[in-house]
Amino acid sequence: AWEKTASVEFKNLIPGIKRCVVVGSGKGGVGKSTVTANLAIAMAQRGLKVGLLDSDIYGPSIPMMLGLKDSPLGTPDGQIMPLEKFGVRVMSMGLLIEEDRPVIWRGAMLNKALQQFLKDVAWGDLDVLFIDLPPGTGDTQLTLIQNAQVDGAVIVSTPQDVAFLDAKKAIGMFGTVKVPVVGIIENMSSFICPGCGQETQIFGHGGVRDAATRMKLPFLGEVPIDLAIREGGDSGQPLVAAHPDSPQTKVFQDMAKAL
Ligand code: ADP
Repeated sequence: AWEKTASVEFKNLIPGIKRCVVVGSGKGGVGKSTVTANLAIAMAQRGLKVGLLDSDIYGPSIPMMLGLKDSPLGTPDGQIMPLEKFGVRVMSMGLLIEEDRPVIWRGAMLNKALQQFLKDVAWGDLDVLFIDLPPGTGDTQLTLIQNAQVDGAVIVSTPQDVAFLDAKKAIGMFGTVKVPVVGIIENMSSFICPGCGQETQIFGHGGVRDAATRMKLPFLGEVPIDLAIREGGDSGQPLVAAHPDSPQTKVFQDMAKAL
């Protein structure tokens, strides 16, 4: 299902992967990395061989979310071994650079680094590789799509109009490069007060599902604002791994099944 467009050249620098799914969003802070980490773990719990590549070179958050600190080891033939956590093989630029050192690169350098990075990771055989994209529709997204055989894109958005407006641009970008959108997720969908049980729709609710239906794109599910999700991200123990019986874990498991 890989069609070339006239103006863009495509290569596949990561062979041996059955399915490559990128996760994107229109803007930052909507929970894209949180959702990707939990989806990847839920997928691994189903017995699949899962990889997770954090491609956000400027603000890699996957290592912290998964509690990874060790530097990856090299292989005898000069590749880098991904780290394994919660059954998922993980690689992030954040594991290769010092934590508090900012990366200051121009576009050309970033593209080269990303291509090298794609080639250099010894993923082994994978059933699915998730690539956590930086927010937006910039250089990194295009470089990745051109250099990995991307089978589908998942889009994460909050229900807020401004967030979905940006998400629509990301959807448009995937359309242009002929990557099918295989799922749209509404994150921070509502909040249930742990004290009184009342549901409050902080960013609104349901707008993303409606928009997905209108655009005839598959809607994967709604993830509420949940303290355990935020705590899981900050402590390096994502919800799906730390709280297997939580109703929100079930939401991620159902989405992983549908993907
Ligand atoms: P992005 O990757 O889109 O920039 P992150 O995944 O880094 O966003 O999430 C931003 C912050 O919001 C993190 O602190 C994360 O723990 C928190 N967060 C994300 N989704 C939820 C949720 N459903 N409930 C509570 N906190 C969340």
